[in-house]
Formats: sequence, C-alpha cells, structure tokens
Amino acid sequence: MTPHAALHFFVDNVDKFDTLLRQHVDGKFLQLLFYHDEIVPGNVLHPDNTRRSVCFYISFLEWRSLLHSEFVWLPIALLRTQIIKGITGGLSHCLAKLFQSWTDNFHGRPVTLRDGTIRIFPVRLAGCIMDESAMHAMWCCKGASGRRPCMKCKNCVAKLAGATLGLDDGSYFRDICCPNITEFHRMTDEDVWQSMDHLEEQQRTISKKQFAELERNIGFTHSPDGLLAQHDLRNFVRPSTATFDLLHCFWNSGGIAPVEVGLFVQALLSDGMSWNQIQDCAAVDISSTHPVSLQSRKRLLSDPYFGSNVGWKASGSEHMMMMPLLHLWLMLHIHGTQRWERLQDKCYSFQLLCERLYTLCVLAWSQRSTFRDLLRSKQQAHYAQFLRAYGREHARPKHHYSLHAADAWTEFGCCLDTKTQERKHQMLKREIESSGQNLAGFEERMLRLILLTQVNELNKASESIGKAFLCESTFVKPNHWQSYTLKQNLVTWKVDNVVIQHDLLWAGRIKCFEQHGDTITVVLEKIESTRVIGFGLFEWCRADTELLRMMWNEMQVYRPAHWILSGNSLLTLW
Ligand SMILES: [Zn+2]
Repeated sequence: MTPHAALHFFVDNVDKFDTLLRQHVDGKFLQLLFYHDEIVPGNVLHPDNTRRSVCFYISFLEWRSLLHSEFVWLPIALLRTQIIKGITGGLSHCLAKLFQSWTDNFHGRPVTLRDGTIRIFPVRLAGCIMDESAMHAMWCCKGASGRRPCMKCKNCVAKLAGATLGLDDGSYFRDICCPNITEFHRMTDEDVWQSMDHLEEQQRTISKKQFAELERNIGFTHSPDGLLAQHDLRNFVRPSTATFDLLHCFWNSGGIAPVEVGLFVQALLSDGMSWNQIQDCAAVDISSTHPVSLQSRKRLLSDPYFGSNVGWKASGSEHMMMMPLLHLWLMLHIHGTQRWERLQDKCYSFQLLCERLYTLCVLAWSQRSTFRDLLRSKQQAHYAQFLRAYGREHARPKHHYSLHAADAWTEFGCCLDTKTQERKHQMLKREIESSGQNLAGFEERMLRLILLTQVNELNKASESIGKAFLCESTFVKPNHWQSYTLKQNLVTWKVDNVVIQHDLLWAGRIKCFEQHGDTITVVLEKIESTRVIGFGLFEWCRADTELLRMMWNEMQVYRPAHWILSGNSLLTLW
C-alpha cells in the first residue's frame, strides 16, 4: 500500500481518525516514519521458516503525542522472508520497488476527510526506525560484524580494526569502545551516495578480491538493485534517516541492558550470592503502571533466563518493568555493603546503567531537553565505567549504537522506539500460526487481517484521539461533572494513579477529574520530595492533606513505572 492509500483506509474506516490530519496545514509535508520487523511463527526451537514474514509499518512524526500507541503505526505491507531471499538484491531491492511506487505520494496526493473536504499532503521520509540487522538489510551496509559497524558515523570502526590501527586521541578514527559520541563525525547523505558511486565505478576496474576489500573498508556492499543505487530515489529516500530503534539497542535480548544484567548476575553468583537472594529484589509490594505478579517477577530472575550470550532473556517490556526494581535493590541492599566493595567497578557500572536508562525513560515521557543533556553525560559515564568493569571484550556495536539516542531525540523531538509493536507482533504471529499451510494469497490475507483487527480495536478507542474526555462521569450540578477515569490520546488515567511532575518538582496521587464547561481539571494529593535514594528513585513525603486542583495537562505529568505508598511516604521507582 502507499502511505496515502493507508491514510484513506483509516480515515474511511475509523471514526475520528481524520482528527489526526485536520490540524495539519494543507500542502505541508507529512513527515513519514518507516519501520519493519520480522515475525517468526513457531517456537524458538522450531521456527516455521516457510511463513516467516517481514511486516512494514508507517506513522508520522506529526502524531508524536500518540506514537506510544501501536494503533497509529499503520501496517502497509507484508512479505514472506523466503520470497525476499529469492530476489536479487533482497530486502533492499524490495524496498526500492516499494518506494518507487510511492513517487506521487512523495509529491503529494489528496486525502478526502470524513466531512468531504479534500486535503493534499506530500510526504517526506523522515525516519527509518530499525534494529541493526534490518538496517543492514535495507541499506546494504556491512553492519555490526563489519569493519565499519555504524552507518551513521564516518569515523567509527570495529574493535579489531581499532586495536590493529592502534587508535589514540590524535587519530581520526574511533572504535566502538569510545564512550563520547561527540568524537564521532556524522555521515551525510552525500558521503553515502559518493561511496556508492565510487563502488559502482571501481567494480569495473579492480579485481574481485580488491573490490571485496574496498567494500569492507567503505562499510557498504555494492548492490545494483539495492535502494542506494537508485538515483531516482535520492530526492526521497535519504540514508541519514536510518535511526536505531531504542527497544533493540537498550531492552531486547542482546541489547545493552540485558547484556549487563547477565554479566552482573554472573558476578553476584560468583561472589557467593544465591538465586534466592537475587530474587529478593522482585519481592517488593509495589503498585505498578503495568502490574505483574510477584511470582512472574521472581521467575524472570532464575537460571533458565541467564547464561546465553544475549544476556538476560526477558522480553523488552519485562526488562523495562524489572530494571527499576533491580535499581532499588542495588541501592538499598548492596550499596554500602562489603559486597559493593568487592565488586565495586561492576556495582558502579550497574548503578550508572540504571541511571542512564531512567534518564532515557524520563526523556521519553517529559520531552525536556534538560534530560537529553543529562542522557549525554550519563551514557558517557556509564559506558566508560562498563569498560572499566568488564573490559573491551564485552563491548558490542550496540554499546555504540545506543549512544545515538540523545541526538535522535534532538532530531525528532521525541524518543522513537517500537515496543508498542510487541503486542501487534504477537497477534500477527498467532494469526500466521493458525492460518494453515495454504500459502495462496498469503500476504494479502495476512495484511487484510492485521488491518481489520487494527480498525476494530481503534474504533473502540478512537474517541480519545486528539482530546481528553471523562469516562463514566457523574453529574454534580449543572455544567459540573466528575469522574475517576480520563482518556486522552489513547491513554487511560485513573484514580489512585501516581503521577510525577515533569521537572520532578512534586508527585501526586489522582483523586478525581472534574469538568466545568469545556475545562477539565484534575484533583491531586500533592506530595513533595524529601529524599533521593538513587537518581530515579525518589521518596516523597506527604504534607497534611494538601489537595491540588489544576488544569489537566497530560504534558505536565508522567506515571512512574512502580510506586510504594505507605503511611505518609511515597516511593516512586523511575
Ligand atoms: Zn555511530
């Protein structure tokens, strides 16, 4: 499907969907975000390779405040991996064809809104969010295993190349172990295209062996059918739009958090700690934004989840749920003990990892540039300490990729990750698994199914797109309503939810929402901070029963991952 066909489909089938387009000025570019990921049906040990598929999604940067929701990521294509592999030029060739079919969309096509008005929107490809392997497939870059592992940086080389070259501060090149992102030079579109043109020229003149060597040094593979070789696409598809997905860099298996959790747990076990003692960290009586049972939390900290080279094998969202608990446990039960003394470098690295991850989370919620600047310093401090604790042998390309997070925020004005797609992927996986072995019209059937499911689910939730409203409100007096639940931009806020003000000035517990005319206010029990247990772990102390009534503004507060409320004290975790 083209972007405009997808927009038409959703406008036609989902109430209120055109709210998303109404605010946009006619004729102005819509900034397109592109994302694709592979779905592997079957289980990990017996993957079903015949129906393994890549699904492609789009969204728009203008929908920033809703990008946290899977519903605004529109599926536009699906293709079996087997078919992709059978095509010369593979995925990059398929994408070149896809983007070539979008040419008139890039220039601008009309979209008819629900009330019949016609708006014309050109689209501009603004960001291609993906993990490193998808990047490698899309842009034909050599990627993580190559000499030039990062297609965003001109002077980034692999560890081995770094060691061979004997890099020092005076060198132009830096290897992936350099913790300071400002020492890397940004690769521009022109740099990439020049390299591609150079490869094309050289291929005719030098030997095969020399050419392969040249490709390795440049960091790209020459692919005449690939995306970067298509001169007609250069106005629309720019390699600098390649953006690392935060979920894959930080949270998913092999990401920097699971890798370090794996190493740290190993260090604790070697230091004589038992699994039972480690599981204690999950045994806290907490309230959570996404509650998970104590038993499940403990299960995640057991032997089967560890011991592989991808680190801790919890899923991305399990990771996000558990890290604040590990952080609290580290600061309350390990910090200041003899164990901390013995494992000082590793404990400190883990503390910095937690602070860095918290900063990333709070940046995603609060959109404050202060947290971007803080992320820059935290990421550098953490990576330097990680290398002190575990050595260069444990540094991976993802440690470098994750350093791009702060700049990606500057570029897009938000944190782009694909954790929202986890659920959609599970759904699609189930559908593919139950679809039988008939492969006739497989792609069309699956794409239709995923579109219809999305339309159905979105229709139930679309009321909150672009506005806040009280759910099941009760009448107080004329023009005055009260409610315990509020929905806005596909997010539900409820009574007793704990919220934190974006500049960390205060926390509060929601008592109720009120509406007078068109004005929505929130009534909060306001609590001010008294103690910082660790950066991201705050203890707030309730003054008498100070109630705060303020205009509701979702951009002013965020919800912590977990909280513990006891007596007059409130502990918030991230
Ligand atoms: Zn880089």
